Amino acid sequence: MQLLYGQRGAVWLVVYLLFILAPLFALLVGSHPPLRDFWTELSIAFGYSGLAMMGLQFGLTARFRYVTEPWGEDVIYHFHRQISLMAAGLVVAHPIILVAVQPQLLAPSNMLEAPLTAHFALVSIASVIALVVTALWRVALKMSYENWHLIHVVLAVVAIIAGIVHMVGSGFYLADPWKRLLWIGLTVFWIGLLIYVRIIKPLFMLRRPYRVAEVRKERGDTFTLVMQPDRHPGFRFSPGQFGWLTVWDSPFAITAHPFSFSSSAEATDGFVEMTIRNLGDFTSKINTVPAGKRVYLDGPYGAFTIGNPADMHVLVAGGIGVTPMMSMIRTLADRADQRPVVLLYGVQDWESITFREELEELKARLSLTVVYVLSRPPDGWTGETGFISSEIFKRHLMPPYADHEYFICGPNVMMDAIEKALGEMNVPMSKYHSERYSFV
Ligand SMILES: Cc1cc2nc3c(=O)[nH]c(=O)nc-3n(C[C@H](O)[C@H](O)[C@H](O)COP(=O)(O)OP(=O)(O)OC[C@H]3O[C@@H](n4cnc5c(N)ncnc54)[C@H](O)[C@@H]3O)c2cc1C
Repeated sequence: MQLLYGQRGAVWLVVYLLFILAPLFALLVGSHPPLRDFWTELSIAFGYSGLAMMGLQFGLTARFRYVTEPWGEDVIYHFHRQISLMAAGLVVAHPIILVAVQPQLLAPSNMLEAPLTAHFALVSIASVIALVVTALWRVALKMSYENWHLIHVVLAVVAIIAGIVHMVGSGFYLADPWKRLLWIGLTVFWIGLLIYVRIIKPLFMLRRPYRVAEVRKERGDTFTLVMQPDRHPGFRFSPGQFGWLTVWDSPFAITAHPFSFSSSAEATDGFVEMTIRNLGDFTSKINTVPAGKRVYLDGPYGAFTIGNPADMHVLVAGGIGVTPMMSMIRTLADRADQRPVVLLYGVQDWESITFREELEELKARLSLTVVYVLSRPPDGWTGETGFISSEIFKRHLMPPYADHEYFICGPNVMMDAIEKALGEMNVPMSKYHSERYSFV
């Protein structure tokens, strides 16, 4: 039986809660020591809960397609971020409460004689604090994304292993061997997830490389990487989805870069294209990738895709956010789908409109309307100017607005403004889909 996205989402939520709550409830059954004061017990509960939540982060970030599909990658990322902050808060609150009710723990004599497990607790908490600081202030700390990512993974592993050693070593609630086994089993599961992501999955990708067939220059400091599967059939994707690209390293590298597929999903030869704008270290080197270079693609991912019944598709793109829209338009053209498509495309100036010529050509194959909204229009421009707004929507769309299906991709400020405008036009949230290129 095929589960709907919503049902699958609910099932995974229940599994998630089970993984977090079951080990905690297990502590309450069987034999346990005599109860201590409320605050001490609360602080211990915080420690256990924080650790269980942290361990499961390896599952959230493992890119299991079946798990992430119902929500979309950006929602999972935000959930990971919020849950991690909550878990860190619980882990840090654990010693603070403990020291508040038992200040003698801070006495120099006690600290000198503290058991080894207390040292592991310190290592774990220091790592958790470093994790939070580097995640929240990466840009202010001037850390490159790649360095931050590596440090993030190392700190997470240290925080969890040291936390588990502290917990099992203290053993207050783990007198029963089966409880110790349960928590050790959980740890093995978390580490197993990490091994899957960092070793097993890259091994699969190593056996399914791609070759660069062409690097095509596009308007707007942008290049399209055309890739073909190297002795394997490749994968099918839905228009609007994205993949993780590794160009200069092996699939074992910690960091891959996410890019939407810009080609038609109807291509049958496994060829796939990504259109990449020069925005930093990695993207500025795309134009130097030689034809024939071996690259690795992990995908497809994401829930930002057409497929729901809709009378009309309204695609709202800002800058390079046009890439998933291009895949949707090319796919609809290949499927000879004649339902109306309106592309509202915000760009700085006329010369940097990526895909401009092809969009004009595609109008002949589709019922496609393209509305360029230029923030720096040339002299004599009679089209839309400024930023995409509800007024522009109303000038180019037919009411009732809630009947159309909306897709939004662009800079965060633009996306926030569009989502607000759609709300004001009484378009329900179920009718619009967003893909955020920046998770901050
Ligand atoms: C789902 C998704 C789809 C995307 N599709 C496209 C596309 O089709 N075309 C396109 O040009 N861009 C796309 N991007 C943006 C693209 O991934 C970043 O611009 C690129 O990774 C920046 O790398 P850099 O080293 O050149 O820049 P940097 O200067 O190193 O990074 C700029 C910013 O990009 C983010 N970033 C950098 N590396 C990564 C990474 N490995 N994973 C996640 N975020 C990162 C960070 O917030 C960073 O501050 C997409 C992003 C996402 C999340």
